[in-house]
Amino acid sequence: MERSKLLPYFSSKSCYFSESINVIQPHNLIFEGYQIIQIPLLLDITSRLVGFWLIALVLMLLIGVIINFYKIIKGVINYFFKDHINQYLLITRLKPHFKKILIQKFGYYQQLSAENKLVFEKRVQKFINMKEFIPRGGIKTITPEMKVLIAASAIQLTFGYPGVYFRHFWKIILYENDYYSRITQKYHQGEVNTRGFIILSWTNFVKGYDEHTKGRNLGLHELAHALKIENAIRNDEYNFIDELVLKSFYKLAGEEITKIRSEGATFFRFYASTNIHEFFAVVVENFFERPDEFYKYNQELFMLTTNLLKQNPRIRPSTTDD
Ligand SMILES: [Zn+2]
Repeated sequence: MERSKLLPYFSSKSCYFSESINVIQPHNLIFEGYQIIQIPLLLDITSRLVGFWLIALVLMLLIGVIINFYKIIKGVINYFFKDHINQYLLITRLKPHFKKILIQKFGYYQQLSAENKLVFEKRVQKFINMKEFIPRGGIKTITPEMKVLIAASAIQLTFGYPGVYFRHFWKIILYENDYYSRITQKYHQGEVNTRGFIILSWTNFVKGYDEHTKGRNLGLHELAHALKIENAIRNDEYNFIDELVLKSFYKLAGEEITKIRSEGATFFRFYASTNIHEFFAVVVENFFERPDEFYKYNQELFMLTTNLLKQNPRIRPSTTDD
């Protein structure tokens, strides 16, 4: 058997070949002492591979721990401080021309303390920034008044929920007056659909705030529907209403709906008995427009609504600071 020199197949560090190896042809490798030489070589390669994967695994574990740690910390902060973060990290101030309209026209805002006014203003600006307002029908352009009053109505309803901005509803469509719906083949004053639209007729919206003691308010009514839908849709604002409070509310609502259906309109108009969703929307209208009368009529239902919306319109600051 002819001896030949070591073939340079391996680097110097890993090479265990020596002159004692017999190599005949590259395609027919037969080594003397094959067992003795190959085992340390395989062990070396294996140990290098194991080392590589071990380092990769440790790195992946470390990255996983860092990501999870970040998620855990974020989750803990959100759980305990989300409302505070949303309330106090409002950066953008309300633009002066919007603020002027709020001061002149929005009763709910006028009754807030100076501190809450500032929070309200910033939340209104944030709502405006988040939404697309679309004119339809007789409305050719969206005015600042339209934007700020609709935003104010939304923030009025969610003032107890600093993190709720109706995220699912990103388009607000505005008609001048009652509009015809091809789907229902009826005229509507407003509607909310699960595709993310809030549709309002401007004259009816304004009327709701002009006649603010009748328990009828289109803006609050439609936004109340949107609030319930928002609570049920899995997004950042999902499930913010306390389930137990909602359950108790439904129980009392059922009793009141039965009463309206059998006796006719009670404190609540007959339309409230249409179904549980319309009942909730009508309750919201009366909660803000006739809180004292509502409280006298059904204290338990009123208090449940204060828990549900996390605010009480019967408690107003004794002095307004400015
Ligand atoms: Zn409705």
